[in-house]
Amino acid sequence: MAAARDPWRILGIPPGSGEGEIRRAFLGLVRRHHPDQFPRGSPEARWHEERLKEVIWAYQEARRRTSSAARRPVADAPSPRRPSFRLHCNAHQRWAVIYCTACGAPLCSRCDPALTGYCGQHRRQRMQM
Ligand SMILES: [Zn+2]
Ligand SMILES: [Zn+2]
Repeated sequence: MAAARDPWRILGIPPGSGEGEIRRAFLGLVRRHHPDQFPRGSPEARWHEERLKEVIWAYQEARRRTSSAARRPVADAPSPRRPSFRLHCNAHQRWAVIYCTACGAPLCSRCDPALTGYCGQHRRQRMQM
């Protein structure tokens, strides 16, 4: 791909949208593309898998840009510490739809049903704050 990927275009929202809008767009696209709803290994599932990867990337990138622009440096973005793009969670070996903002752990829709963007451990920590 010649041009840099544009997270806003992938999510279908205007550049600089707020976290609420980013999240709404993301959840809609995850629902549409989640490969669990197609026969495993089928061309259809693979196609949607690729779309979902893009969507996940766009979501993280959009949030990173929003939060770094708004309040904090990118130091705590998960990507540098993430060894590779993991697609399945550790607990259930299911499709990860989101990554912990604090540690980068892959989380499936069961690990993080409300899609808070934090693993169990970091979610508890945040709730205590
Ligand atoms: Zn975590
Ligand atoms: Zn899981």
